[in-house]
Amino acid sequence: MTTTMRAQRLDTTTGAMTVQDVPVPEPGPGQVLVEVAYCGICHSDLSLADGVLTSRLPVVTQGHEASGTVAVLGPGVTEWAVGDHVVITAGRVDYTCVRCRRGDHSTCMNMESMAFDYDGAFAQYTLAGSHSLTRVPDNVPLDRAALLADAVATPFGALVHTAQIRPGEAVGIWGLGGLGTHMVQLARMIGAAPIIALDPAEDVRHRILDSGADLALDPADPAAADAVRAAAGGAGLDAAFDTSGSPDALGQAHHCLRRGGRLVVVGMSNSPISIGTTAEFGFSKITVAGHHGYQAGDIATLATLVSLGRLDLSRSVSDVLPLERIEEGFQRLRTHEGNPIRILVQPNPGT
Ligand SMILES: [Zn+2]
Repeated sequence: MTTTMRAQRLDTTTGAMTVQDVPVPEPGPGQVLVEVAYCGICHSDLSLADGVLTSRLPVVTQGHEASGTVAVLGPGVTEWAVGDHVVITAGRVDYTCVRCRRGDHSTCMNMESMAFDYDGAFAQYTLAGSHSLTRVPDNVPLDRAALLADAVATPFGALVHTAQIRPGEAVGIWGLGGLGTHMVQLARMIGAAPIIALDPAEDVRHRILDSGADLALDPADPAAADAVRAAAGGAGLDAAFDTSGSPDALGQAHHCLRRGGRLVVVGMSNSPISIGTTAEFGFSKITVAGHHGYQAGDIATLATLVSLGRLDLSRSVSDVLPLERIEEGFQRLRTHEGNPIRILVQPNPGT
């Protein structure tokens, strides 16, 4: 086992990114060292690099959507063995705060986000708590497994936990990148109907019809909102999700809801949101919900669905880049070059 490894390091003040040699971290009690197989580049990684989101750390290794192989067990870890294939949960909780003690780790008061509050997985190795790992079924390739840690689990959490979508409900999904594309697939699986997908890129609208959307619309079309409401039976959507973080998209989504509908904010930006006057909002009986992350068992649920062939991630990996080319991946996401669903980084090529 070597003592140094290659890792991406982001200066969170200037946004400057380097790939450099750093010490391989040592797992403490209850921790596991994971050899990273793949780690997806998420729009939130871009947002931190571009100063839209912030970190409390001056320098951090990014990457929070990772799969890999257990390499070293820390003291006291008995449930894992070296060589196990795992997905890493993209955050950690304290298990001791009032919310955790009431059994809801998803609202932990001291939740820390991987790649923002502690080092992530754009590196050859990364540390994880043994409780934060999920076993990857033998027939699920590690590149697709990596996606489960955010691009699939976050929209799953938004649909199932935050919006509690039921079969037959009309849903609208704004923004069809990694999160939005998988949200359409998952909404289809849950039985939402119709599923209306909105994105400014024509080729994205074309491909989303193959991923389960009933209707794909350009949000810039002045007739889009009327078309959404008409497709939803005239009353409007039962639930609307924005994955883009754009206030325009969120405003349009809000406008397309039926009375009593649910608006779910999934995309993150530094833009403020508006829900109209208190009178309009009260009369509308709309619920606005913020969404972040997923619950502890969701990755295992999704891994089972992929393993059984219910959830098809075969088109989700748009490209794989070595760690040394990570900036190119960021740039392609920034410019929407090829409208990738997910670009993955492979820090240990050939493994
Ligand atoms: Zn807690």
